[in-house]
Amino acid sequence: MTARIIDGRACAAQLRAEYPTRIRSLHEQAGVTPGLAVLLVGDDPASAVYVSNKVRACDAVGIRSFTFCLPTTITHAELLGRIVELNNDDRIHGVLVQLPLPPHIDMREVLATIAVDKDVDGFHLYNVGGLVTGGTVFSPCTPYGVVKLLESEAIPIEGQNVVVVGASNIVGKPMALMLMARNATVAICHAKTRDLAQFTILADILVVAAGVPNLILPQMVKTGAVVIDVGINRLPDGRIVGDVDFEGVAKKASAITPVPGGVGPMTVTMLLDNTIRSAERMTAAAVGLWRPSSL
Ligand code: NAD
Repeated sequence: MTARIIDGRACAAQLRAEYPTRIRSLHEQAGVTPGLAVLLVGDDPASAVYVSNKVRACDAVGIRSFTFCLPTTITHAELLGRIVELNNDDRIHGVLVQLPLPPHIDMREVLATIAVDKDVDGFHLYNVGGLVTGGTVFSPCTPYGVVKLLESEAIPIEGQNVVVVGASNIVGKPMALMLMARNATVAICHAKTRDLAQFTILADILVVAAGVPNLILPQMVKTGAVVIDVGINRLPDGRIVGDVDFEGVAKKASAITPVPGGVGPMTVTMLLDNTIRSAERMTAAAVGLWRPSSL
C-alpha cells in the first residue's frame, strides 16, 4: 500500500480563499475589519518567527494585526494590564499571547485574563472546559486544524479507533477531546506510556504530537491507517521533520500528512478562521442578533 499524501497547504489555501469574502462582507455590512493582537514577550527567535508568520497570514487575507513586542523584564501585572486594555479595545477581535512566556510570568493567569470572546488561541480555561462539556467558543488552532484536515479529506472519525501520541495542553489533550466529541474511541499516549506500539498498532487514525523524530516506525502502524504527524523537529543538518518515519510509514498507511506541508499550514489558518469568526459574532451581538458569552 502507498499512502495518499494529505496536502495541508492545499487544504489551507482552499479555506483561506474564502476569508477575504467574509471580511469584505463584515466591512460592507458593519464597517468592521477583524483585528488580531499578538503579544510577544522577550526575544526568543523561534517565537519571533511564529509571530511574523501569523502577521503575514493576517495581512494576506485582510485581517488587521497589531503586534506588541514586550521586553522580558515586563512585570506580570504590566502584562495583565496590557491584555485587559486589548480586551476592551473594539478594534481587536482576537488576543493571542505567544508562548512560551518567561519563567516569572504565570502563564495560566495570563491565559485566564484574555477575554473568552477574544481567546482565538482557545487556551482560556472556559474554552478548554468547553471541550469537555460542549460550549467552546474557540477551539485550539492545531487540533482544530487536524479535524478540518480530516473532514476535508472525507476521513470518517465517528466510531474509529484513534490513538493520540502526546498529551500536552495545546495539542494532545484538546485533540483527544475534540475527536472524542466526534464519537471516536480515543486513547492518549505520552512519554510514560509503556510499549507505545501496542497502542499505536490499533489505531485507524494515529495522531502524533510528541516532538520526537522517528518516534513512529512502520511496524507500529496498522496497515491502512490514517497518520497525522503534528511534530515539527529540526535535525542537526537543518532539515525539518515530523515525529513519523514518513518514507517507511507511507508504504503502510492509507493516508499521511507530510512535514512540512501537513498540519503546520492548517494551524495558522485556524487562527485566521477563529479571528474572523470572533469579529462576526461580536458584530452580530452588537446588532442584537445574539449575545456572546459574558464571561
Ligand atoms: P510538548 O513537549 O508540550 O508535549 C509533548 C508530549 O509528547 C508530552 O505529552 C510527552 O509526554 C509526549 N512524548 C514525548 N516523548 C514521547 C515518547 N517518546 N513517546 C510518547 N510520548 C512522548 O509538545 P507540544 O507543544 O504538544 O508539541 C508536540 C510537537 O508538535 C512538537 O514537535 C511541536 O513542535 C509540534 N507542534 C506542531 C504544531 C503545528 O502547527 N504543526 C503546533 C504545535 C506543536
